[in-house]
Amino acid sequence: MFSFKKSLKSIHLEHNKSTMDLCTEMMPIPEKVFISVVQHIGAPCQPLVEIGDLVKVGQLIADSKAFISAPIHSSVSGKVVKIEDIMSSLGTKDKTIVIETDKKQELWEGIEPPLINSKDDFIKAIRDSGLVGLGGAAFPTHVKYNPKNLDEVDTLIVNGAECEPYITSDYRTMMEDTENIVYGIRIIMKYLDLKKCYIGIEKNKPLAIKKLKYATKNMTGVTVVTLQPSYPQGAERVLIYETTGKNLPPGKLPADIGMIVSNISTVGFVSEYYKTGLPLISKRITVDGNAVLFPKNLRVPIGSRICDIIDFCGGYTKPPKKIIMGGPMMGRAIYNHKKALIKNNNAILVFDEEMSKTPEETECINCGRCYANCPLNLMPTAIAKEFSRNNIEGLKKLNVSICMECGCCTYVCPAKKQLSMINRLSKKLIQEEAKK
Ligand code: SF4
Ligand code: SF4
Repeated sequence: MFSFKKSLKSIHLEHNKSTMDLCTEMMPIPEKVFISVVQHIGAPCQPLVEIGDLVKVGQLIADSKAFISAPIHSSVSGKVVKIEDIMSSLGTKDKTIVIETDKKQELWEGIEPPLINSKDDFIKAIRDSGLVGLGGAAFPTHVKYNPKNLDEVDTLIVNGAECEPYITSDYRTMMEDTENIVYGIRIIMKYLDLKKCYIGIEKNKPLAIKKLKYATKNMTGVTVVTLQPSYPQGAERVLIYETTGKNLPPGKLPADIGMIVSNISTVGFVSEYYKTGLPLISKRITVDGNAVLFPKNLRVPIGSRICDIIDFCGGYTKPPKKIIMGGPMMGRAIYNHKKALIKNNNAILVFDEEMSKTPEETECINCGRCYANCPLNLMPTAIAKEFSRNNIEGLKKLNVSICMECGCCTYVCPAKKQLSMINRLSKKLIQEEAKK
């Protein structure tokens, strides 16, 4: 077994992965989908359709000329009935294409497997597919797979850790789509000319480890690495260290140390697209939480509203107090269930009042636990102090920009300080100053 003796700091969380053994169900096509033109990090797309247009499944409906962006395709067949600004889960007003579905799910005539003979063809195909990081990052994959120094990159790291509690969508991909993951790895290694691949999976997913080890046993350069089931094993820096023993220095990208890191569902999708040419129009997600009647793993058309998804899961058992898009550690709480699913959402968690209580903050007792448990050795108390003084230079010196907002510091703090939130706001302060 491949492992390193010394690990980065991490915490133990209750996994609560009650949906682990639930096979993925197909969510029925809703009456309407709400497809935002902001589905990824980078430049938003512009709609290419107008109100009244008829669209088909997989048809391009929005795109951008910007390099860091990815096209958007219709997840349904039907009629565009509105293009309006709708408040997103991030609190921004984003143009949204509303499509009334005809339930026929007619495929757009242009769908065909891409013709790929070179690295450039491959990168173009990845862009055309609309693929973005499916683990939550939403970074356009064609940009990630084509760093400036690609000729110095030799390693692919596949993230199968899925360390956030509750979420099992990547696990179901590993169990149900093993073949696609393996084929995706083959294609990526071939066209990007990568020599090594490490697939990191936590120890608490023994069946997935077994399946992937068996499926890759004859592949040269591919190693399945068993990771400790701690949090945040799936964070990029932590995963790089735990799979290869290499440190990613602050301010550097994985490509700077010869690596590309990709989520396991993203890798699986590469294969799906290669075989069918059907762009990214649906997403496997976990629906869970103590206020949902029937928690499930689902494949959901992009643009489906949370209320429609919850209806399919039997509705609420109790009044929902907190709805989270993503996991409880790094996900975002939203204020209404009419929000629609975007490409990077991997879970919807709904909790009742009892489970949603936020403990009251008390005075810091200088116990140092926040520092002791930060995987990146940041100093959350010092950051909070500089933030309260609005001292941007001080925040920069403390390296807050590399904070991955994993929430470990907040989780371990006995005074219940919202340290991770302070770091998020500190990063925003620095970004705003940089824009000026
Ligand atoms: S949220 Fe940031 S500061 Fe807190 S533990 Fe995670 S990386 Fe460290
Ligand atoms: S963990 Fe909380 S109480 Fe302890 S030093 Fe950090 S902020 Fe203060």
